[in-house]
Amino acid sequence: METLEATQAVMASADTPTLRDIVLVGGGHSHVGVLKSFGMRPMPGVRLTVVCTDTHTPYSGMLPGYVAGHYDHDQVHIDLRRLAMFAGARFYRDEVMGLDRVGRKVLCRDRPPVPYDLLSINIGSTPQLLDVQGAPEHAIAVKPIARFNDRWLALLHRIQQQPGPTTVAVVGAGAGGVELLLAMQYRLRQELQRLGRNPEDVRFHLFSDSARILPTHNNGVQKRFEQVLAQRQVQVHRNAAVTQLMPGRLQTATGQVLDVDETIWVTRAGGAAWLQRTGLALDRAGFIQVNDHLQTLTDPCVFAAGDVASMVNHPLEKAGVFAVRQGEPLADNLRRSLQGRPLRPYRPQRRWLALISTGDRHAVASRGAIGFAGAWVWRWKDWIDRGFMRKFAHFPPMTPPGPMPEQALTLNADESLQALSAMAMRCGGCGAKVGTTVLSRALAMLHPLERDDVVIGLKDPDDAAVVRIPPGKASVHTVDFFRAFIDDPYLFGKVAANHALGDIWAMGAQAQSATAIATVPPGLENKVEDTLFQMMSGALEVLNEAQCALVGGHTGEGKELALGFAVNGLIDDTPQTVLRKGGMRPGDLLILTKPIGTGTLFAAHARLAAKGRWIDAALASMVLSNQRAAQCLRNFGATSCTDLTGFGLLGHLVEMTRPSGVDAEIDLAALPLLDGALECVGAGITSSLQNANVRLRRALRNLDTCAAHPRYPLIFDPQTAGGLLASVPPDRAQACTDELQRQGYSHATIIGRVLAPTDALEPITLRG
Ligand SMILES: Cc1cc2nc3c(=O)[nH]c(=O)nc-3n(C[C@H](O)[C@H](O)[C@H](O)COP(=O)(O)OP(=O)(O)OC[C@H]3O[C@@H](n4cnc5c(N)ncnc54)[C@H](O)[C@@H]3O)c2cc1C
Repeated sequence: METLEATQAVMASADTPTLRDIVLVGGGHSHVGVLKSFGMRPMPGVRLTVVCTDTHTPYSGMLPGYVAGHYDHDQVHIDLRRLAMFAGARFYRDEVMGLDRVGRKVLCRDRPPVPYDLLSINIGSTPQLLDVQGAPEHAIAVKPIARFNDRWLALLHRIQQQPGPTTVAVVGAGAGGVELLLAMQYRLRQELQRLGRNPEDVRFHLFSDSARILPTHNNGVQKRFEQVLAQRQVQVHRNAAVTQLMPGRLQTATGQVLDVDETIWVTRAGGAAWLQRTGLALDRAGFIQVNDHLQTLTDPCVFAAGDVASMVNHPLEKAGVFAVRQGEPLADNLRRSLQGRPLRPYRPQRRWLALISTGDRHAVASRGAIGFAGAWVWRWKDWIDRGFMRKFAHFPPMTPPGPMPEQALTLNADESLQALSAMAMRCGGCGAKVGTTVLSRALAMLHPLERDDVVIGLKDPDDAAVVRIPPGKASVHTVDFFRAFIDDPYLFGKVAANHALGDIWAMGAQAQSATAIATVPPGLENKVEDTLFQMMSGALEVLNEAQCALVGGHTGEGKELALGFAVNGLIDDTPQTVLRKGGMRPGDLLILTKPIGTGTLFAAHARLAAKGRWIDAALASMVLSNQRAAQCLRNFGATSCTDLTGFGLLGHLVEMTRPSGVDAEIDLAALPLLDGALECVGAGITSSLQNANVRLRRALRNLDTCAAHPRYPLIFDPQTAGGLLASVPPDRAQACTDELQRQGYSHATIIGRVLAPTDALEPITLRG
């Protein structure tokens, strides 16, 4: 194949496979704008991936209002998972630790490197605590805001619980520090008043390393805030740089020592430490130097915006307003860069309006030499802020990207050929095998576990794998296969492997070997290879942890990403060691080890109706292995066991009662539910498998009385990588549940009991 670099355009259309990857590092104010822009105007052939530590990213303008208690958490946070879903982007919740700019990969804390064609960084600023002795241990930094929020809620709780005076020091007297202080003070005073305590019990000190407060604002604005601080009995320490923090006290450069209960750090920040190792040109504070196109001075493939960017031609104050404004030019330049079109310069405004609140639904406006204040300024600010947030809470209906003939991506000759062939395959639905080079390159980077009983496996592949069954053991076989329900191949691989292993654990067996079957959408070879690598990396982590050797597999190209495993396990070759579905005995109690609700939650996610944190929690539950739970259930004498999957709780329970010849009762109120599951079924959102499962309602004895219960639909909800459902003798069930919880199955609970069979046709009774 021709390898000569030739710039050739491939027309992008709805059927275009992924040709280019834009990776957005951080979900700051600029990147939310980029995501919205691509959601409104998708660029066929271009895939966006956001890597961010937070699923819910804070909007800085409303943060003081949140601290003051005027807004709740969701009002001041943008749900990145939902926004990414709207934008057709992949959302990876992770922390970026570095870049491999030669290999064009983003290095993350908890997942394989993420490749990019274009990269953009919008990670905000990082408080520089390390320069001050004791600060990392004893100060609460305002960033990252998620951590600040946890510490703030803990402080709030402590002050509510602990009578007596509390002293809070705020270090940093810029607009952020002053605004935050006034917001905290307002909220704490309100809380103390509500509890019938003296609001003056909390005393505030503000430390400034210069003679002035709000040094970047005009005299009038500074005076106004000095008055407010004086009225509110805040002690302001000028020319008092804090140089050391010790438990319960701080010290300034002038030698002043103050006893403090809490120190909040809101001083000028710098760039994140990992940026130093990227080789990108940084300014003295460690921020990335960018030109007027928001492109780094060092690398045309890397852009930066918001606080982390230092515009060399237009030095800017670190303010969310600039990060917001840069969103649109950044999106435009990312598009242009992929199309080989000239980039457009962004010229920031010279003067900007700051609306700084005083905690109590009043605010001060500051612009250049102008300043004014009042309750109406706060209402104005509130109106602007809510308007901004509405853009990220309500989305127009999603429409698939149509053909955009005027758009063309620059590809070299080889890539163009690959793209054309991938398009042809896509249209044909295709079931072709993935090319051997792609497959072998992807597999070469993986490290499957090696076992002595694997005679022929991936290390020395042949037509088939050969695995020895040790004497006295029987072989347990199971297979599972499903389409990706989330646009994250690594996590999907983990869930798919965990799901497949569930049957092995439920039988009381040990996993031995697995063969994989995968389909990957066609595309550029390097994209197919990476998808396969990411997916199998996730799967292998789970298989290796389970001591299960991957011994072979088959990979084909298909329209959708899908993965399944045939897993073999080993069990003692005596019938009583097998934990079957049919062993239930009347009187046993039913234990469920994980919460239910994955079906409705992912259906809601697809419709942009689920909160990001609900999906985070559902994914965490799906990757939790059932292995230890199965062992624990056996230790406590479980009489039968199954894993919850596609048939839902009721379907799997009936699969147990029938062969056991018993009836059972479920307590709806006791069912452990995933966060948000009830809201989603309450909104009428269910999985496409729900209707088939609902047919089994004929197994319910008291359908008339229970069908209106809000939790009723969830007994039909199909589960992916669900928990184990087991019957355990009544005298051991509570101890078993306690032990399961100790082992990390925090939702494990007794959900009902096994009853003696009756003449009734329906075996299951629900209690509300
Ligand atoms: C108390 C306070 C009040 C403020 N009020 C205002 C105001 O009213 N108006 C105003 O204009 N400015 C205000 N500011 C300044 C404002 O907060 C910042 O300028 C603004 O947040 C910068 O936005 P950003 O998009 O650059 O980054 P951020 O808003 O900080 O967003 C960065 C994102 O990147 C993520 N991230 C960080 N590191 C990583 C990593 N390694 N890997 C993956 N993800 C990562 C974070 O989780 C976060 O989601 C205030 C600041 C403070 C402290």
